[in-house]
Amino acid sequence: MLEIRPNCEHCNKELPNTSTEAMICSFECTYCKNCALEVFENVCPTCSGNFVERPIRPLKMIEKYPSSTKRVFDQKNLKTAKVNSEKYKNITPTKR
Ligand SMILES: [Zn+2]
Ligand SMILES: [Zn+2]
Repeated sequence: MLEIRPNCEHCNKELPNTSTEAMICSFECTYCKNCALEVFENVCPTCSGNFVERPIRPLKMIEKYPSSTKRVFDQKNLKTAKVNSEKYKNITPTKR
């Protein structure tokens, strides 16, 4: 089950369950669309995997299975992230 983290790990933007801007990698590193696609160029700065849009948990399920309230906020070093993105962005995710 996804944690559905409440914020962008890099810029701390609010990303509630109903947000259409939340992107996740396979480890559920969570970023806003701008950070995931523009800043990190669809390369997760932590695991180098790709991002996909986080699904929205239906309202009727969210009471029984609430989204996480634990904020993960750890601003990335943009120089290091850039090097990593350059290395992986042109490699299709199935081959990374
Ligand atoms: Zn962000
Ligand atoms: Zn990741």
